[in-house]
Amino acid sequence: MIHTVIPVGPLQCNCSIIGDESTHEGMVIDPGDQIEEILAIINQHGLRIKQIVITHAHIDHVGGAMKLRAATGAPIVLNQNDYELLKMVDMQANWIGMKTPGKVDIDHSVGQSDSITAGSLNATVLHTPGHTEGSICLYFPAEKILVAGDTLFAGSIGRTDLPGGSMKKIRQSLFNTVLALPDETTVVPGHGPLTTIGQERETNPFLTKTQR
Ligand SMILES: [Zn+2]
Repeated sequence: MIHTVIPVGPLQCNCSIIGDESTHEGMVIDPGDQIEEILAIINQHGLRIKQIVITHAHIDHVGGAMKLRAATGAPIVLNQNDYELLKMVDMQANWIGMKTPGKVDIDHSVGQSDSITAGSLNATVLHTPGHTEGSICLYFPAEKILVAGDTLFAGSIGRTDLPGGSMKKIRQSLFNTVLALPDETTVVPGHGPLTTIGQERETNPFLTKTQR
């Protein structure tokens, strides 16, 4: 599997460019910004992008989606529980002093247990509300990779003080869904360094038993 992670935009959102080495079909997860650089990586690997997946409707994750769709023709997918939040993208741009990307059109919603495919690549959608109502993680069972959005970080978890956030829900998502994955799963968080489920289960202060 081709998998490049690049931090994009002022908040350094981790954008994943993922491709099937044999068919050269691929997907991009969270194209928040720097679309020219994302396209350069896509072209370098000769990928045809089939899916643009947004883990949640915060501007740093969705900001470049329309530009990428225009360049690749791939559909943009997001969980419908974040459609309301997406309407606030102008306000979000104001909060962080970013230029608004304008209206973002979602092609269709994806929810719990849906499959997102590109070539032989197959990701399962895990609906993990808490950072936002419509937050999803993408799990690639064959490769044991979790693209976690802002639900889980190395040593931390997503903030729950923004609109649609809930500490109760993010804990449920983490304990019932994310920690159900095998320890050897590589985690690509929405920001910051990569980690593993085992590492976070052992050392993440938000996930240790005393915090339950
Ligand atoms: Zn976020």
